[in-house]
Amino acid sequence: MMMLDWTRRAACLDLDPELFFPISVEGPSQSQVERAKTVCHGCPVREPCLEYALTTRQAYGVWGGTDPEQRRELSLAEPPRESVHAQPLRGGR
Ligand code: SF4
Repeated sequence: MMMLDWTRRAACLDLDPELFFPISVEGPSQSQVERAKTVCHGCPVREPCLEYALTTRQAYGVWGGTDPEQRRELSLAEPPRESVHAQPLRGGR
């Protein structure tokens, strides 16, 4: 599998993936989520990580210091990105 360039500098690269993909974001898993977010806050690639998660609509896990609920809120706050094909044609059509 091709590795995204920014992932090579990820602070979570050598950490247990289960920390970032807990069973739930509530109950006992809440402390796991908070620990993962703490790692993200010191991560040098937090921005591209969050961008990637939003663009690819990652529904699970902690990405870029956010949990799935926070990403849903961010996605709702931002207007959907238009693709090149959705741009209006020149000439007023
Ligand atoms: S921001 Fe968090 S999830 Fe993303 S690469 Fe960094 S440590 Fe990993």
